[in-house]
Amino acid sequence: MFPVADVEAVLLDVGGVFHLPDHARMLGALSRLDIVADPADLDRAHYAGIAALGDHAPVGHHGDGASIWHRYNRAYARVCGVPHDRLDEATLVLLAEFARGGVWTRQIPGARDALQAIADRGMRLGIVSNADGTVEEQLRSDGICQLGPGAGVEVHVVLDSGVVGVAKPDPAIFHLALEALQVAPGAAIHVGDTPASDVEGALAAGVRPVLVDPYDFHPDTECARVTALAGIVALLA
Ligand SMILES: [Mg+2]
Repeated sequence: MFPVADVEAVLLDVGGVFHLPDHARMLGALSRLDIVADPADLDRAHYAGIAALGDHAPVGHHGDGASIWHRYNRAYARVCGVPHDRLDEATLVLLAEFARGGVWTRQIPGARDALQAIADRGMRLGIVSNADGTVEEQLRSDGICQLGPGAGVEVHVVLDSGVVGVAKPDPAIFHLALEALQVAPGAAIHVGDTPASDVEGALAAGVRPVLVDPYDFHPDTECARVTALAGIVALLA
């Protein structure tokens, strides 16, 4: 899809790449609406929510980015079988559940191993997440990755928009990552699941984007797409 020999660094989004909304929390919220969702729909519901954002980039994962997260949760609820006339009500219930915090704890199967495989190819790694300041600690406690040696894969920089004060798609957050990794934009790829923040932001910074699109919601996106982080290993191989 692109010249793979030039890649020295891989930047990574977190939500939709490593983490998804916790199934028990989401099923619990939906059950308060007497909706019995099929757990098999929940992961797809996240990516449907992202697809519903269109040109709007989500910042953080709390319910406070009101209008943007309304779109996400409405689409999420629809995939989970909430009938049309109850979508407004369901959206508010889901927003409240996200606002309680701690929802983004489901680990995407295989993602950590894929990150290790990418590291084993000699890539420098950086996390670039629109979040609420908790991403570094959560990735560490999950054993996914951390700065320096540890239980997870060693990464070289972790940027959480809630900490650094600048969020995707602002190219400034990508510039911070590239500076920390000491690589040129053209020598990096960025892997994320949200076109408006990950693809647009990476392009604005001169970094090649790769979209994680497991359910083929973005067939017209003009960048490389993978169904999971493991797909990056194949791109680099
Ligand atoms: Mg994401």
